[in-house]
Amino acid sequence: MTRSANPLSLERLVSFLDTELALPEFPHDESSNGLQVEGGAIVRKIGVAVDACEFVFEKASAANIDFVLVHHGLIWGGIKSVGGILKKRMKALLGADISLYACHLPLDWHPVYGNNAQLLKLLSIRKVGEFGEYHGKRIGYWGRTSREMSLKDFLSRVDSALKTKSFSMDFGNKVKNVGVVSGGGWSAIHDAEKYGIDTFLTGEPSHSAYVLAEEMRVNLIFSGHYSTETLGVKAVGALLQKKFGIEVEFIDHPTGL
Ligand SMILES: [Zn+2]
Repeated sequence: MTRSANPLSLERLVSFLDTELALPEFPHDESSNGLQVEGGAIVRKIGVAVDACEFVFEKASAANIDFVLVHHGLIWGGIKSVGGILKKRMKALLGADISLYACHLPLDWHPVYGNNAQLLKLLSIRKVGEFGEYHGKRIGYWGRTSREMSLKDFLSRVDSALKTKSFSMDFGNKVKNVGVVSGGGWSAIHDAEKYGIDTFLTGEPSHSAYVLAEEMRVNLIFSGHYSTETLGVKAVGALLQKKFGIEVEFIDHPTGL
């Protein structure tokens, strides 16, 4: 990777991302999507990560990154005061003149760069349609595997693709029609019957999902909130590298959850 020859302005980068990631599609997202913290006017190196936290910001600062794009940002539902952990995180960013850009639900939903579209692609599932309503909009996708397979075979595909160890519940179906909603998207299982889904994959385990899945006879797979949500930021990172010829680094901070 090489450093950009032509300086990229923060303004140009933010405007490109706002449009490309279709932020206006999600006016009711609790996350303040877009530029959350303004750093320097010129961007020379970009970092992408799942979570906005001190570890990520320190790593960014040590790597001379001046723009960090995350899936889970710092500002949820507005700021009433700046203190405690938020103060520490803000200080880490502002002290190093690093900008922070967050993209939450639009980056779950995005048909190309989103976590769920990327998940289907990675798992060689042909996308059929949107699925999984959340705050009035479907943010997941469902699709078909090229052949019917056992849950065991499908799980080994998932685990090797995501480099994770999924937790699953077999409710008797072969795998063919798969619905995916990354992260904490378990409640999308309510839509499984409607779309004829036999296997539902999400990130974080949920007790409530179990009984629903059992009654609907839908296989349940929990592959980790973190590991299902690294895909979107990485895809956007690759896009930015290609578009602007700028160096992009994935800042890995796995939670194992
Ligand atoms: Zn998430």
